[in-house]
Amino acid sequence: MTNQLEQLYQQVILDHARSAHGRGLAVADAAGHPHGESHQVNPTCGDEVTLRVALSADGRTTVEQVSWDGQGCSISQASLSVLTDLVTGRSAEEAEQLGETFRALMASQGKGLDESLEDALGDATAFTGVSQFPARIKCALLGWAALRDALAKAGAASATQDLSQEES
Ligand code: ZN
Repeated sequence: MTNQLEQLYQQVILDHARSAHGRGLAVADAAGHPHGESHQVNPTCGDEVTLRVALSADGRTTVEQVSWDGQGCSISQASLSVLTDLVTGRSAEEAEQLGETFRALMASQGKGLDESLEDALGDATAFTGVSQFPARIKCALLGWAALRDALAKAGAASATQDLSQEES
């Protein structure tokens, strides 16, 4: 990776950490929209998050709102902000898919992914450099773990399937 690209990536992470999108837990939806909440901790770094997701009530399980409250390093907080931007307005299935793609990026050891996959990730590709540092990967994945869990609790079909696969 060129130094210039690395600097750009660092800037994206710092900007999101400074002005994080989705921060501040939204109150549970009174209109009866399906919603789920997840609390995740990354003990190796001290990052912590409570994330809420609200789905549309029309049976199409669109991610209507993501909100969260967290503390920790700038990588964990920036990743939550980027995640909020990426999945809001997508179907729960697309949100799951983005999570899978991001997990693949974090397993790439700094190499990154195919361009088409990186395009889908948008600002989240700024975390490519993080995947070179095993100790920090969990920081970047904290929010995505919370999202997967919250989607499952909200009853999103694909998320529930994923969980049952892991249990078997
Ligand atoms: Zn961290």
